[in-house]
Amino acid sequence: MHPIPLIADIDTDEHQLWLESLNRVLPDQQVVASEAIDDKQAESIEFAIVANPTPAELRRFPNLKWVQSLWAGVEKMVSMAELAEIPIVRMKDPELARIMAEAVLTWTLYLHRQIPTYQRQQAQHTWKQHIYLPPSQKRVGVLGTGKLGRAAIATLLTSGFNVSAWSRSPKQIDRVDHFAGSDGLDRMLPHCDILIALLPLTAETHNLMDEHKLSRLKPGASIINFARAPIFDYDALCRKLDEGHLDHAVLDVFNQEPLPDKSPLWSHPAVSVLPHISGPTDIGSASLIVQQNVQRYLQHGTLPDAVDYRRGY
Ligand code: NAP
Repeated sequence: MHPIPLIADIDTDEHQLWLESLNRVLPDQQVVASEAIDDKQAESIEFAIVANPTPAELRRFPNLKWVQSLWAGVEKMVSMAELAEIPIVRMKDPELARIMAEAVLTWTLYLHRQIPTYQRQQAQHTWKQHIYLPPSQKRVGVLGTGKLGRAAIATLLTSGFNVSAWSRSPKQIDRVDHFAGSDGLDRMLPHCDILIALLPLTAETHNLMDEHKLSRLKPGASIINFARAPIFDYDALCRKLDEGHLDHAVLDVFNQEPLPDKSPLWSHPAVSVLPHISGPTDIGSASLIVQQNVQRYLQHGTLPDAVDYRRGY
């Protein structure tokens, strides 16, 4: 029996938690830190569990047939020559979708109930009540209708919001105005009070929300970015906030993480900075997903759907 390497450049404590959890759900296997496998044995390893793997460590495993990612976002791996386009199985965990949908609802309500405005007023000792509009008079736009987008849409609908959604291919989603393509996005944006990004970062989505697209948004709209920073032009976003065209931005992802101390985003009055916490992977439920995928492969030689390198997700 070959060990299963965990090729992961992550915090030591987190690394240990993953090893314990994966070995608990795969008691007949031996999941080990990749560094514990010598170069000779590494050549015979067929599959690995990966999280933010370094190219150097991947190079020691030249005969991998597939990798199981512990994360949902795999944009860095898609462009790694060391993987030579072998199947990357992304983390698709219903619990992750639930956690993300919870975050979407939390921060949508934060904007909907004007909490940034009331926090500003408190700092200025200002007692002023603003008009309340119910969710039925607000429209939330969701970019991406994949595992996370669908869960977010369901939660928003249950809470009474009108929902528009945008994705690459045309779709019919019950009670949702769906749009596709660049023209479709241009048509959707002017109607959104809140725009939420739940897209993968690919060549096509890079800088998608540039100055032009941000200008298309309804005046006074707000942004929630729970996907990846480069999908937005944050400089253009700050200009739109400064001009008053946009009201507020909740940002969970940044071009450099941790966000550098000198970043103006920290103190921008119309930006809420979150330290990449919208969709944390649940180690317990994600380990069970890994277990199912690994056991299916060992017993039947079959793999779950893998990332399409051409599309980038
Ligand atoms: P998914 O199931 O693969 O869904 C991706 C969605 O994006 C699909 O609806 C797809 O359209 C759409 N899309 C892709 N490229 C597009 C394009 N060029 N134009 C329009 N739509 C496009 O992915 P997921 O599991 O929902 O995850 C989405 C992303 O969330 C991940 O890639 C990751 O970056 C991010 N994420 C962030 C956190 C966090 O903590 N901040 C946590 C987890 C994940 P089709 O339906 O037409 O294919």
